[in-house]
Amino acid sequence: MSNVTKVELGMPAKPMRPANNGGPEIAQKPGRLVVVSNRVADVTAKTQTGGLAVALGDALRASRGLWFGASGQTSVNALKSPPKIDTIGEMTRATIDLTPEEEEGYYYGYSNRCLWPAFHYRLDLARCKESDAEIYFNVNARFADALMPLLLPGDMVWVHDYHLIPFAEELKRRGCASRIGFFLHTPFPSPEIFAAVPQQKRLGNALMTYDVVGFQTSADRDNFARYVTTFLDGERLDGDRLTAQGQTTQASAFPIGIDAAGFVRLAQTESAKGPLLPFLADDVKTIIGVDRLDYTKGLPERLRAFEKLLEIYPQHRRQVRLVQIAAPTREELPVYQEIREEVERLVGRINGRFGDLSWQPVTYLHRPVPQEILARLYRESAVGLVTPLRDGMNLVAKEYIAAQAPEDPGVLVLSRFAGAAEQLREALLINPHDTNEMARALDRALTMPRQERWARHNRLMQRIETYDVANWRDSFLQTFAESESQPLNLFAQRPGAA
Ligand code: UDP
Repeated sequence: MSNVTKVELGMPAKPMRPANNGGPEIAQKPGRLVVVSNRVADVTAKTQTGGLAVALGDALRASRGLWFGASGQTSVNALKSPPKIDTIGEMTRATIDLTPEEEEGYYYGYSNRCLWPAFHYRLDLARCKESDAEIYFNVNARFADALMPLLLPGDMVWVHDYHLIPFAEELKRRGCASRIGFFLHTPFPSPEIFAAVPQQKRLGNALMTYDVVGFQTSADRDNFARYVTTFLDGERLDGDRLTAQGQTTQASAFPIGIDAAGFVRLAQTESAKGPLLPFLADDVKTIIGVDRLDYTKGLPERLRAFEKLLEIYPQHRRQVRLVQIAAPTREELPVYQEIREEVERLVGRINGRFGDLSWQPVTYLHRPVPQEILARLYRESAVGLVTPLRDGMNLVAKEYIAAQAPEDPGVLVLSRFAGAAEQLREALLINPHDTNEMARALDRALTMPRQERWARHNRLMQRIETYDVANWRDSFLQTFAESESQPLNLFAQRPGAA
């Protein structure tokens, strides 16, 4: 699987730091929390940098819960091997291997060549092969087979992300009476886009079998509700409840946050450690970009906007640099090789066109950078530049805010198409398809008076602290705890289902 750095549920683990909070209230009530995700974070690591893994780890420990998912290893004997179970302190971790064919069809094929681009509005890149779809549904069934014997009465099963949409249906088909909730970390696209995925009905009905379905933004939640009413002949009931095909679910927005207090501490500790990162110790202002090298992140658009800034505002030449961290991701897929080539061509063009022997406009790193270094880079950068064409949330935007020195904060320039834009309204919001608008926003950010920067930062920071990752987890678990398990409607039409 991919070798990106962060602990996201679809991705491999990296070292993390301890949690900042005392642990969730909700999960301490009777009933274990069972988290299911494509990949299981390395909960044995002493320090953690992934706020999400920390927050879920806390809830799992508090309820003596279980984290279940794929191990990240492939094995030709995977179909015959039982889950590997480790007890880690007060929680349990259960993982299964995939066969190489399963990894190809389920992970690279259907999840990342079909659903990922479609959910990010890139139907032009979506390759939804029926053979990959079959493997995807079969892997979900095999995950359900493996988890069923490990479940206890009263468990609350919280499933994460687009790899596992059919999971609740598979569990319920096997007689599971637990409540099952789902959280989608990516956007949910507009109904017309989702309906273009050939397996849309099967996926849409599968989502309806969850007792709670969580989205990053109210726009995503509304897209799903419109899909259910338009394409599944469903209805919107009171509040956030939806019904279709004899299934009723609660579909709500739970915007994910960061470990804000932990990030503030990280940024302060790191900057207290000594002089500035040597290459930043000059008067040149830094614009920072940090992303996985994914085609959804708008990296070529960002580079073109920076080039435009240097072109139309010559006063910024030699006074500003763009530092772009682009962590490798899903490099096995050709479309990711193509985006890397495009980005590197543009970096070369800008440096060749505007650079001189004493100033290089773009500093580009194609490797993962640990969060303690990122925290410091954010803090020392005058502008955080976050320009995805579509993004479920975008945590880098929130981390940039949390890392700023409150008395002299930098400015966040943020795409309207990142989920974070729904909450971070005091950022300079831009359309990443509009190069001129982005160049103007960069000029405005670089020249913004301290009073205005301070006022914007204060509002943004308050929101990031209130809606942190613990708040996200607890609001989901609260809604989940109040929900009821609905049985599977076996008479509902399930196209393609056995
Ligand atoms: N990240 C990191 N090192 C890198 C690049 C990214 O630790 O070199 C982390 C970053 O701090 C953030 C996460 O990866 O926590 C990226 O999350 P985001 O929501 O912005 O994007 P995603 O990768 O989930 O699409």
